[in-house]
Amino acid sequence: MSSLRANPLIDGLEPYDPKYLPARVMISANENTTDVPAEVRAAVLARLADLPFNRYPDPLANDLRDALAHTWGLERGNVIMGNGGDELLFNLALAFGGEGNALLNVPPTFSVYENNAQLTGTAVVNVPRRADFSIDEDAVIARASQGDVGLVIITSPNNPTGTLAGRAFVERLLDATRAVVLVDEAYSEFAAPGSSVADMVPAHDNLVVLRTFSKAYALAGVRMGYLLTSPAVVSELTKVRQPYSVDAVSQAIALEVVEHKEAFVPVIDRIKAQRAVLFEGINALSGATAYPSEANFLLVKIDDAIHAGVVWQRLFDAGVLVRDFSRGALTRNCLRVSVGTPEENAVFLSAFADALKG
Ligand code: PMP
Repeated sequence: MSSLRANPLIDGLEPYDPKYLPARVMISANENTTDVPAEVRAAVLARLADLPFNRYPDPLANDLRDALAHTWGLERGNVIMGNGGDELLFNLALAFGGEGNALLNVPPTFSVYENNAQLTGTAVVNVPRRADFSIDEDAVIARASQGDVGLVIITSPNNPTGTLAGRAFVERLLDATRAVVLVDEAYSEFAAPGSSVADMVPAHDNLVVLRTFSKAYALAGVRMGYLLTSPAVVSELTKVRQPYSVDAVSQAIALEVVEHKEAFVPVIDRIKAQRAVLFEGINALSGATAYPSEANFLLVKIDDAIHAGVVWQRLFDAGVLVRDFSRGALTRNCLRVSVGTPEENAVFLSAFADALKG
């Protein structure tokens, strides 16, 4: 049989593989390893009891948009929902990428951005981070102000490095370019208060802030994310989105979570405290160094004398799943460890100490 006539854009593309394997301690995907609080689950189930399953959902999820606009001090027209942040990332590439438009990417960062660029025929311009993973701010601004860039993505805190972008830098960047600037704040709830740039949305029509329910709000399995941006950007995105991508069940669950957001604060605070415990625990070991992080994970550099891939396997054999970044050019010999519960972190630290010894 002749070969399938696949889209040339996907020729040679590696599918995104989250490398999710069953394990006793799953700290590889930056989830909140504590599920939604019992009282929130009860409220969700009550709301679902009389939800019509036979009708299409509200395509734009306007109740959620209103609730989130209220939370952020914005208008409904500043909010657009998506089937996870992932769908919104793809839609941004469709709407602001394409032939003649480049993505300015700041690696090492979330690999999905580059995949989306390839899928949408968007050129990728990489401005790599420095050795300490800080952004080369002047280089990003200089490149973003050239006319070919349609989309700039700044991840703050960055995945997998945990590094924050400075607010002053984002403001300078917004003023310097007509490209859409996406600040991906998927992990922002774990960062220093006041580090989000969401408050800059009203003053900059080219700013897009991504937020998700998958991390701090423990809804990775539900698939719900949103953008805070200008009505002009929302209007472009409504041209490319799938009309019913945000289903009625997910809308109902997310609405209940927004209404109970205070119930998540104790777990978020515990994760931040546990991040410090994990950081100190790792850096007390010889053979590994954790980078400082403002997210719910730590990037850990394994000393060159030991292969990170071997350490990953020893951890997995001990029932602990972490993420192997060791083959990335800019994350050589690194593993990424999500912050779990105190018990999970203790199991990890003990297994990690053993794995480093061999
Ligand atoms: N942005 C970043 C930086 C992420 O790490 C992730 C999740 N891995 C997402 C966006 C998307 O998350 P979700 O689709 O679950 O909302």
